[in-house]
Amino acid sequence: MEEKRRTVGRFAPSPSGRMHLGNVFCALLAWLAARSEGGSVLLRQEDLDPERCPRRYADLLEADLSWLGLDWDEGGSRGGPHGPYYQSERTPLYEEACRRLEGLGLLYPCFCSRAELHAAEAPHLSDGRVLYSGRCRRLTQEERRSLAARRRPAVRLMVPDEEISLVDLACGPYRENLARECGDFLVRRSDGVFAYQLAVVVDDALMGVTQVVRGRDLLDSTPRQLYLYRLLGYEPPAFGHIPLLLDPAGSRPSKRGAALDLGALRERFSPQELLGVLACAGGLLDRPQPVAARELIPLFAWEKLPRGDVRLPAFLWE
Ligand code: GLU
Repeated sequence: MEEKRRTVGRFAPSPSGRMHLGNVFCALLAWLAARSEGGSVLLRQEDLDPERCPRRYADLLEADLSWLGLDWDEGGSRGGPHGPYYQSERTPLYEEACRRLEGLGLLYPCFCSRAELHAAEAPHLSDGRVLYSGRCRRLTQEERRSLAARRRPAVRLMVPDEEISLVDLACGPYRENLARECGDFLVRRSDGVFAYQLAVVVDDALMGVTQVVRGRDLLDSTPRQLYLYRLLGYEPPAFGHIPLLLDPAGSRPSKRGAALDLGALRERFSPQELLGVLACAGGLLDRPQPVAARELIPLFAWEKLPRGDVRLPAFLWE
């Protein structure tokens, strides 16, 4: 019988600003999911786009996690056996993965501009997402050469007309047909920055992550990532996509809204008070009473997470 792998959870924020309450919720639940199984926790800074993610935000994020009492065993500035833990320093690993996909004959250059991708005639899905038309897949070598003289291309991965499914720890069964609901997707942007989809798979696989906990807005990325796991020959982790946090009116708080970033929140609340609010949002406490992160470990269970998105209490804004 195959032995169950020891749980390695992770928190993989994009440090493009001060941490906000949604990031803290994700960090808390990823930490609790791993710790409640006696697992370890890894911190990876997803600063793929170095212009948007200066190192000072990554440093502040570490300080905020420590203030909250959410510790990690490897990663970030602490280092460890699977480093570096900053995506901006892992480019050679993404290049290597691209070479392997290239070797499978599945990559092609894409010259489409943003305007062309979102043009009215581009195929749209019922939820408003745009399906890539496959236009550049069909270019001849001659056309590729002449376009490449004028524009640096992005790189796309061909997807099969096949349903990819998973059973999510929080959301249950989920499936997507990549060709019909997503289309060939980017592994590298035209400015040379590797795409999140590729980097996250390479990193989680090489870092030995066995459990990915993140916001439900990324659930529909998971079939693409499972496809990459298969092509690159890696064993995929378990996935748990957690509810999103809403303001009291039911809208998603803006990422740029300063009110819920930790700079402002740390002036008004203790770590225990904030964790109490989030534990309540996650269904682990009945009331938002102050609590330490460690006290929540025995209370964590996937079944307790609310099915839908969660409204935060109004006093956070008062
Ligand atoms: N870096 C992504 C974000 O902050 C999360 C990626 C992931 O957890 O897979 O939205």
